Amino acid sequence: MELTRPSPLARSPAEQPAAQLAKLAFRRLATERLEPTPENYEKAYRQESGDATGSSGEVLATLIERIVRGMERGGRNWTAARRKESIQRVIAGSRSDPKRLQQRLAQLINSWDSDGASAELDTAVAMSGPIEPELPTAANDAAAAPPAAAVDDSIGPAWARVAESLSSALQQALPQQDEANRELGAELARLNERLAAEGASAPLAEEMHETCLRAERVLQHRHHLFDQLGKLCHELTSSLADLAENDSWVKGQCDAMRMKIEEGLTARGVRSVSDMLHHARVRHAEVKGEREKARDALKHLIHQMLAELGELGSKTGDFHKSVGRYAEVIEEADSLESLTGVVREMVNESRAVQTLVQQTQARLQEEHSKATGLSERVVKLEDEMRRLSDEVSTDQLTQIANRRGLMQAFEVELAKLKRNGGELSIGLLDIDNFKRLNDELGHSAGDEALKSLAAIVSKTLRPSDRVARYGGEEFVVLLPETPVGDGEQILTRLQRSLTGGLFMHKEKQVFVTFSAGVTGYRLEERIEDSLERADQALYEAKRSGKNRTCIG
Ligand code: GH3
Ligand code: MG
Ligand code: MG
Repeated sequence: MELTRPSPLARSPAEQPAAQLAKLAFRRLATERLEPTPENYEKAYRQESGDATGSSGEVLATLIERIVRGMERGGRNWTAARRKESIQRVIAGSRSDPKRLQQRLAQLINSWDSDGASAELDTAVAMSGPIEPELPTAANDAAAAPPAAAVDDSIGPAWARVAESLSSALQQALPQQDEANRELGAELARLNERLAAEGASAPLAEEMHETCLRAERVLQHRHHLFDQLGKLCHELTSSLADLAENDSWVKGQCDAMRMKIEEGLTARGVRSVSDMLHHARVRHAEVKGEREKARDALKHLIHQMLAELGELGSKTGDFHKSVGRYAEVIEEADSLESLTGVVREMVNESRAVQTLVQQTQARLQEEHSKATGLSERVVKLEDEMRRLSDEVSTDQLTQIANRRGLMQAFEVELAKLKRNGGELSIGLLDIDNFKRLNDELGHSAGDEALKSLAAIVSKTLRPSDRVARYGGEEFVVLLPETPVGDGEQILTRLQRSLTGGLFMHKEKQVFVTFSAGVTGYRLEERIEDSLERADQALYEAKRSGKNRTCIG
């Protein structure tokens, strides 16, 4: 009759060692060719269990013999180094309790004895612990019974994978900025390696538990910090908005930022706030530069006008003196000829002064209109800044919808979806290596790429689909009546259609690719939630090689 074994996990651990020891005792009787009398059986049982209450000298001798034999024998899974190390651990762990020491040594040797029978045994030993007598081990069963079909040999490796994944996730989660956390991550990695090499054991489990607790504390602190940062951002934007004057262009930006933060902190939300701040900062620097130029030009003009007026004053002062002199000459004139001469001189001089006054007046007028133009430009720039705050719906560069336009389009699609049902897919596209393109071909080529991509995407998609520029080099597409699987195919087709080059630059084709994340819109959620999922899928697409679409 074939012996079938139930799964080790299904049996009561309390029953297992006794049944196992009984089998080993019978085997001992057989190998030592002893009769199966109750006395011999009892003795053999004691020897197998390492019971020091039996004839302890003999038991000890047998145990030592087995250890020596075990150390000399090669094993497939229990290498010499592992054997040595496990012996040392057992000794260290049970030094104060001779009975337990013998039991654990016997147990350890049992698992050595079964080594080499099959690879699955070691994994099971490793996972259940080669030195824990209380726990059932497939290795001990295998020593007594032939391997049978009922063992689930995927359990050991599966648990090893679980431990590794958890440990690696924890390492990823730990912030890497400071030395202590880097060391904690390294410690986790080391423990994980030990688990793979040595198998599970109570001390190792304890060490892992301790290390995980330390990691947990760090992560809890991070969450706390994260919440605090969220509050700080909220406070900052609120006070900035309060401080800004009512018609200031800053106010609109601050209000928009505060609303975004109030929606809840998501990676996408935080990034869009940073984009907004960046945009505001760049435009602010531009306006500041223009205003400084205008102010310098005005100063220069005022200096020039003062100089002109000074010169005019000195010229008219001269004329005034001349008039006095002419009056004296006229008083003393005794002939008509001499009078005519003086009058001619007077007319000439007054004409010259009049011309000078006219010229100066014209110049002053010209300078005045220049100054007015400059201050009008400053006012216009400031108006533009204000307009930026409530930006219109179209992106100036690509002429497709901008963020605000997207929100309007989404509202329309959402109303349709609620009316007619169906599925709406939302895709997030991000140009690959765009920074490099800008660096290598220049910013205007980058702008050209954005324009061309926007045009191609708009042209390729159905008229009912919507495209928007969501930020720097990111686009969002709304695909109504499209299940997410179809959405993925549509975007993948779009990616393939770019293989012919996107546009010409200096008579050369420029190849541009993009990565995308696509997700199905879930009724009642905010578009930001869908975009967050699409963003995670986009991140996955970037991480797994770019120029591809992933579903989120
Ligand atoms: P990845 O493949 O991981 O997306 O890399 P990337 O270089 O595309 O991404 P990254 O976010 O590092 O760089 C985006 C660049 O896009 C940086 C910025 O200078 C550029 N950019 C953003 N807006 C514009 C724009 O309006 N015109 C141009 N020419 N460049 C822009
Ligand atoms: Mg990007
Ligand atoms: Mg990019």
